[in-house]
Amino acid sequence: MVHPLFRHAEFYTTVNHLRDLPQGTSTEIAFVGRSNAGKSSAINTLVGRGRFAFTSKTPGRTQHINFFRLRDTCFMVDLPGYGYAQVPQAIRQHWGHLLSTYLQTRPVLYGMILIMDIRHPLTKLDLQTLEWFAQTGKAVHILLTKADKLSRSKTTAILAEVRQFLAVNYPGCTVQTFSSLTSEGAEEASELLQSWFDTSHAEIQQANGSKDDSQKKTPAKGD
Ligand code: GDP
Repeated sequence: MVHPLFRHAEFYTTVNHLRDLPQGTSTEIAFVGRSNAGKSSAINTLVGRGRFAFTSKTPGRTQHINFFRLRDTCFMVDLPGYGYAQVPQAIRQHWGHLLSTYLQTRPVLYGMILIMDIRHPLTKLDLQTLEWFAQTGKAVHILLTKADKLSRSKTTAILAEVRQFLAVNYPGCTVQTFSSLTSEGAEEASELLQSWFDTSHAEIQQANGSKDDSQKKTPAKGD
């Protein structure tokens, strides 16, 4: 069953330069991962539509940032997969810059969903991404996907290892198993995304409320 959060999900825009990032969005959640880790499949599974995120796989768009609107001003942002070797150095540099600048400086970015193949968790590039994203202080949740490819006991053991690593190095960062084949973990991930959007919304309301209050407190001319 697809979570209500994704019922009206739609492709919004694709961006190849930071100057073209959309305006007027309030909350964005980024999907990041090594190329081939299963990011597009995970998005398709969450949204419940087979080829939803494959717009990002059309030739020429793999290095772009793809925006999907969930509702109002809430967006899922599919970032270019990293570590894809068959790509000229100049293009790799371009998308590395796009990805890192977006993740480190986008004010409306609430958090990052980091996708890893459960058979190869915490690669060097994943660790690099975690390391510089941690500096933003924003939320991180990891999906260990392709869980169907391993036995239940192996899956549980890897989940425990990754959880232990995070507890020591990145406390606050959460992790779960996922499978696009069986939809294992889809409900848990959907609930987490919903809670991030809700928290972000509440924070924005509160910030607007305190802005209104401070305006009210400013004495009017002639008081
Ligand atoms: P991306 O490059 O990270 O977007 O990766 P894709 O979503 O295109 O997946 C890469 C390959 O892994 C494809 O052949 C998918 O069919 C396969 N794949 C992705 N997720 C899963 C999964 O949960 N289980 C299995 N068995 N295969 C998967």
